[in-house]
Amino acid sequence: MVYPITLIPGDGVGPEVTEAARRVLEATGVNFQWDIHHIGIKAQDTMGTLLPESVLESIRQNKVALKGPVTTPVGSGFRSVNVTLRNKLELYSCLRPCKTYTGAPSLHKDVDIIIVRENMEDLYSGIEFEKGAPETTRLIEMISEAKQTAVSADSGISIKVISEMGSKRIVKFAFEYARTHNRKRVTAVHKANIMKFSDGLFLFIAREIAKEYPDIEFEDRIIDNMTMQMVQKPYQFDIVVTTNLYGDILSDLCAGLIGGLGLAPGANLSNEIAVFEATHGSAPKYEGLNKANPMAMMLSGVMMLRHIGEGKCADNLETAISEVIAEGNNVTYDLKPESPDDAVGTSQVADAVIEKLKNN
Ligand code: NAD
Repeated sequence: MVYPITLIPGDGVGPEVTEAARRVLEATGVNFQWDIHHIGIKAQDTMGTLLPESVLESIRQNKVALKGPVTTPVGSGFRSVNVTLRNKLELYSCLRPCKTYTGAPSLHKDVDIIIVRENMEDLYSGIEFEKGAPETTRLIEMISEAKQTAVSADSGISIKVISEMGSKRIVKFAFEYARTHNRKRVTAVHKANIMKFSDGLFLFIAREIAKEYPDIEFEDRIIDNMTMQMVQKPYQFDIVVTTNLYGDILSDLCAGLIGGLGLAPGANLSNEIAVFEATHGSAPKYEGLNKANPMAMMLSGVMMLRHIGEGKCADNLETAISEVIAEGNNVTYDLKPESPDDAVGTSQVADAVIEKLKNN
């Protein structure tokens, strides 16, 4: 069997970590037919568009993609291609497992949390009003009329959208995932005490859906309390379901608990399509230096193998990665905070994982 997979190397450290992941995936013995495409600045330079239609067509056809990180300018410039890709393919669910591997320089042992992040709504819906634009002035006037609330005329405004449909499907996804993966508890995270009509709606829906799953424990936490609890007592959490922005922040926080972004994989899922990518971004300062940790990309590859039904190969690859971490000889700088000079580079990590796969 040959699996056709869309491969998007990304930019920054993306091409290096994606290449390392591709090499170890091939070393598992599974046959892939890689359909390589570019998005972001690379596609803009060569094809005149940030997100070519051919990439979307390839993913729609193959139904599975492995994607490296893609840079988005901060504060100005083009909107995130990552967010656009998720919206165009309706990848409404972002699944981000965080677990500790023996030997990783983690704050806690035995963390095993799955973040389920709503991936399309919230403050990421892209409905933004620039300070001083005519439509912003009209919106401010409308708000002051409808709500008798003064909004300063020099404001920029981003709209937070939480729908009943979007909340239902992400919470259902979390509970279904819990059931099929033998997980015990779902924690919904929100700020419903303040944002009663957006986060309040999300919480109301979560409570309603929870009633359909009496076999799974349910609780909810306010986001600020959640961040502190996660740092102090992460063991209490199993599956965390939340809205887009909190999910984004909590996944980086969770990565910080288990040894950093270099160990945090992820998947963006619709009902038909799966795009696997690490939680981390393009880490531009390490671009081309053979320095970034490829394990988050490799572990995203492990998730991909499980998704396509190659569970045994997925287990073998995860074991090989965990052995390399445990031995600590062939790991990147981020896993050697005490002796970064002893670290190896991105491609050497791939060599070491492949060696383990051969010997196991
Ligand atoms: P980042 O995740 O790229 O980096 C955060 C920190 O973690 C940096 O210190 C970085 O050097 C380190 N780091 C990240 N990945 C690492 C790895 N594999 N190994 C070792 N260290 C690693 O986040 P950022 O600096 O906020 O963002 C950089 C760019 O990435 C921005 O343009 C942002 O928009 C983009 N981004 C893209 C995605 C995506 O493509 N899905 C996700 C997040 C950020």
